[in-house]
Amino acid sequence: MTTLTPTALVTGGSRGIGRAVALTLAREGYQVFLTYVSKPQEAEAVAAEIAAAGGRAAAFQLNVGDAAAVASFFAEQIKDKVDLAVLVNNAGITRDGFLVRMKEADFDAVLGVNLRGAFVCLREAAKIMSRQRHGRIISISSVVGQMGNACQANYAAAKAGLLGLTKSAAKELAARNITVNAVAPGFIETDMTAVLPEEVKKSYADAIPLKRLGTAQNVADAVAFLASDRAEYITGQVLAVNGGMYC
Ligand code: NAP
Repeated sequence: MTTLTPTALVTGGSRGIGRAVALTLAREGYQVFLTYVSKPQEAEAVAAEIAAAGGRAAAFQLNVGDAAAVASFFAEQIKDKVDLAVLVNNAGITRDGFLVRMKEADFDAVLGVNLRGAFVCLREAAKIMSRQRHGRIISISSVVGQMGNACQANYAAAKAGLLGLTKSAAKELAARNITVNAVAPGFIETDMTAVLPEEVKKSYADAIPLKRLGTAQNVADAVAFLASDRAEYITGQVLAVNGGMYC
């Protein structure tokens, strides 16, 4: 019988938190499959960095908002080809705006990637992990899903939805030795928050007990813990990585 390579799939692994997660899980010994939607050079650079350090990685273009493409990807690249040890649902977007002016298209786009995309990846991964009788699924939610945020009704709804998805999937998949958890970052220095004006970032930092925004590595370390054997009895949980801003 051939032994399949333990593999971690990281959606949106080309930049920011996903990039840090991909590099960290590669250091933990996983082959890493990372996906991107619009930035092939960044994604290939992450895969090359992993390879240069002696690891194994491949980058794939995959829009998680396209359920048919996700199903094809799992059928062609994952099923019977690798041991899908870890899925990290990280791909995410924002379309911020005042609630009263928010267009349905902006609501649907954010729910489509952050929540529906995570659901579709989780569903496809669960089919494969159920047959394997092991697996770790970790979804990147947000402090905004826990406490809400002005001008982010769509994003908050998606990230809160991820928590319900996580807790339900944890109950359903435990019998198959699959754990399902969420990480809820606070404000983290990435492209997503780089668009915020400096005074807004400073006001966020002032309101955080640890007095700074977090790093992508801070989040990646939490993901690596939940993926590790040390977290084998943890499922259905939300691990906040937020500098104490919401306890
Ligand atoms: P980022 O720097 O904007 O990177 C987003 C990543 O998602 C990129 O790799 C991007 O790919 C990918 N992506 C976007 N749309 C996609 C789609 N439709 N299908 C597949 N991949 C897609 O974001 P980040 O700050 O690292 O955030 C990563 C996750 O953490 C997100 O879920 C975000 O909501 C969450 N989060 C972030 C913060 C924060 O403060 N930064 C806080 C809490 C939670 P391309 O490079 O190809 O565009």
